[in-house]
Amino acid sequence: MDVHVNAAMSADGKLSTVDREQIRISGDRDFQRVDAMRADVDAVMVGIGTVMADDPSLTVDDPGLIEKREDDGREPQPARVIADSRARLPLDARILDDTAETIILVAEAAPSERRAGLTAEDAIVRVAGESRVDLTTGLDALEAHGISSIMVEGGGELLASFFEAGLVDTLTVYIGSMVIGGADAPTLVDGAGFTATDDFPALVRESVSPLDDGVLVEWSIDAD
Ligand code: NAP
Repeated sequence: MDVHVNAAMSADGKLSTVDREQIRISGDRDFQRVDAMRADVDAVMVGIGTVMADDPSLTVDDPGLIEKREDDGREPQPARVIADSRARLPLDARILDDTAETIILVAEAAPSERRAGLTAEDAIVRVAGESRVDLTTGLDALEAHGISSIMVEGGGELLASFFEAGLVDTLTVYIGSMVIGGADAPTLVDGAGFTATDDFPALVRESVSPLDDGVLVEWSIDAD
């Protein structure tokens, strides 16, 4: 599975405010770039924390990009994937609309009536892990479903698990010209953090470019 992480953060590394209020960190050109990246991949993924905070649709907006996918014999929209161990996803969430396929990765601990509710909304539910979604197992399930490339858009808790599991291939970060602050505001990578320097995922800078009023940085992950 090709795993690309893409997110927008403030100059101080925050994804949103302490109140988890969604902030427009980038501009129109970056939105177009993200739209094109979504159009390239088989699936787009977020954690349930992001769905609860933002109620995103995670779809491709540009009709030209949708048409190109169709011309290439692909589904018009990439699948939407949520890591949601306990199947907490509200049944009226935008991500459950019929614009694109929605796959929910849950843990065995997810109550069966919650799983059934999601299935009744035409979501595909896959079990991966016991008490929390195990991402390696989850990605295997997605691969078995025909998904071979995924863009993970956040938030900080989910991205921490992706890095901890060594599953990230490339990272693109848009750095906006603003400071959000707040020790409890979500950052690009939250979780428990790496304490040993040897464990830090090492990045190889591939490109840096000005975009809108911020900067776009692309890294690959140093596998050594
Ligand atoms: P998150 O990372 O979206 O979701 C975290 C939740 O996912 C966990 O609490 C956990 O809940 C579930 N999960 C399931 N399996 C997991 C696993 N293996 N590892 C980690 N989590 C797993 O939430 P967040 O860190 O609170 O971030 C949300 C914030 O980020 C929002 O404020 C949103 O606006 C912001 N955001 C910003 C951007 C950006 O580009 N600026 C992008 C995305 C999000 P369960 O255990 O209940 O499943």
